[in-house]
Amino acid sequence: MNQWLLLVVGAALCTPLLVTQTSQAAEEKNPFFEEWKTPFGVPPFERIKEEHFVPAIKEGIAQQRREIDQIANSGKKPTFGNTVEALDASGELLDKVEAVFGNLTGAETNDQLQAIAREVAPLTSALRDDIMLNEKLFARVKAVWEQRRQAKLSPEQLRLVEETYKDFVRGGANLSPDKKQRLRQINEEMSLLGLKFGDNMLKETNAYRLVIEKKEDLDGLPANVVAAAADAAKAAKLEGKWVFTLQAPSIWPFLTYSTKRDLREQILTAYAKRGDNGNDRDNKEVLVKIATLRAERARIMDYPNHAAFVLEERMAKKPDEVYALLKKLWAPALSVARKEAVDLQAMIKQEGGQFKREAWDWRYYAEKVKKARYDLDDTQLRPYFKLENVRDGAFYVANKLYGLTFVERKDIPTYHPEVATFEVKDKDGSHLGVFLVDFHPRPGKRGGAWSSGYRGQRFKAGKDIRPIVVNVCNFTRSTADAPALLTLEETETLFHEFGHGLHSLLRRIHYGGLGGVPRDFVELPSQIMENWATAPEVMKVYAKHYKTGEVIPDSLVEKIQKAEKFNQGFATVEYLAASLLDMDWHMLPEGQKPDATEFERQALQKIGLPPEIIVRYRSPYFAHIFSGGYSAGYYSYIWSEVLDSDAFGAFKQKGLFDPATALSFRQNILEKGGTMEAMDMYKRFRGREPSVEFLLEKRGLNVPVN
Ligand SMILES: [Zn+2]
Repeated sequence: MNQWLLLVVGAALCTPLLVTQTSQAAEEKNPFFEEWKTPFGVPPFERIKEEHFVPAIKEGIAQQRREIDQIANSGKKPTFGNTVEALDASGELLDKVEAVFGNLTGAETNDQLQAIAREVAPLTSALRDDIMLNEKLFARVKAVWEQRRQAKLSPEQLRLVEETYKDFVRGGANLSPDKKQRLRQINEEMSLLGLKFGDNMLKETNAYRLVIEKKEDLDGLPANVVAAAADAAKAAKLEGKWVFTLQAPSIWPFLTYSTKRDLREQILTAYAKRGDNGNDRDNKEVLVKIATLRAERARIMDYPNHAAFVLEERMAKKPDEVYALLKKLWAPALSVARKEAVDLQAMIKQEGGQFKREAWDWRYYAEKVKKARYDLDDTQLRPYFKLENVRDGAFYVANKLYGLTFVERKDIPTYHPEVATFEVKDKDGSHLGVFLVDFHPRPGKRGGAWSSGYRGQRFKAGKDIRPIVVNVCNFTRSTADAPALLTLEETETLFHEFGHGLHSLLRRIHYGGLGGVPRDFVELPSQIMENWATAPEVMKVYAKHYKTGEVIPDSLVEKIQKAEKFNQGFATVEYLAASLLDMDWHMLPEGQKPDATEFERQALQKIGLPPEIIVRYRSPYFAHIFSGGYSAGYYSYIWSEVLDSDAFGAFKQKGLFDPATALSFRQNILEKGGTMEAMDMYKRFRGREPSVEFLLEKRGLNVPVN
């Protein structure tokens, strides 16, 4: 029962279900049924074939059922050891298979894997319900919970008892039989709908491409962007042309630099219409179904709505708290964005434009304003942000803060030739974990960037099992004549995901079931790392020109610092709008079945989102909330930002690499997993609750609203 693995989100396909054939011969050699003799027990990827998953998952489920039966039917008096601890240790094989499967369906999927996901989702959903709704098992868990104060338990064991009991209650253990039955149906249906949503999105993203045939249509685009588009055309057998896609390294530079307004409109419209094209990949019905099922489940569990149900387990606790923070930020952010819009319009006029700014103009003219105001653009910066240098910069920070070292290993199996592997050592040289990086987009990889793992840290029979962690991103790749050169945003994202990676790598807890932390706390370890990415003394170490090796000049570092708050109104508004949209979807009362388009329109109109700013994710491609784990949780980034801005304040006061502050952050937060209440961990580190002031300052929102 490894909660940490629940962070892995799969993607699957909505084509007719293929029945997976498994021959006896294939099963005999199934690598999941062996102990892995690879370095550090990393999955032997080259030996794992699609046909191994279904038999291994089925056997994993059967094994866990036997373990559960044994615990539930034990004639012995329920104790921590024979009930709660035994439950935590159950399902080891299933965890092992699902970790590989979940990661591959996110990072390197194919039709066959997607079909398997649809085949196994109902099975694992049923297993979870069978555990949570097992009356004998719950009676034992409850008995241990009732006697927890008398038992001699460590604080971590006590926490595991409380969390396990709560899991059962929230999993429906106290419901009447007919409600339990309905809950099972809902859970099964939702497991498939989430997959379908993700499948549709991947297909919709891959379905569009902008093919440019005339050189003049490339006007304004930097050489590296043109080179990447030529490579993409070559890969698509369109030699001599240029292909732009909806993947991040392609669409965003195009929108930032292309002088062709009609083409900008075309590609952004395609992006914003994903899942909303009325074809067989349309997500509107799917998402409404998900939202209504969530509302129904909340009602069954006796909560007014899904948001109330999930927020109970988060730092925020209640929807009101979330709305309060979002609304506190909305007015100043909107006010700043309006000023930015005026600047853009002035730039349009200055260039002789006779039109009112539209969504496809924002990035283009913002870049021009930035250039005029700060003499700064990404083209100047990219040569200093060679991917390997940025990555080594992140390693450098981990070394200065925590004494970690990263040693590249070529003898560790990977699932794709582009994946690089590192052994991570602690400051005393001991083995801390394995770290995999997978940096570039591929058609089988879903969008965005994430951190996940093939094995979570925990103790087994007194032995510390160290983790296998992976960062998966969609960064600019190398071209025929240049290595992968990142934008500033990609650079910050690399540090961000690396921060999640450190959180998993440094963890030192006993029980896998306490691995998870609240969604609105989990972005603290990641977002705080972004601060080091742009700290001048850190950039001086890693930001070196890819051709000359010259260290980034002070003048450029200064420009980055000065431009830090540039366009923050836009960024905050598009983000907050998505957070509010997410909350609105999950405040839906039971029994309502809104029209997706109309619901979204009203939600955004209500807050006064300017038409030239598109909500960061429109509902039909809001994968975070409809196929990821962020339902009523997209606000978490800004909630965590209150924490990380405030936490970084401690480093600002004491020193960027102050050893005592770093040690405290490591011991009180990074090592602790979910063994304590998040706010208690935070207070141990900071000595007080967080304050929103550092965030307002950082985003330039501490200005009078008008
Ligand atoms: Zn994150």
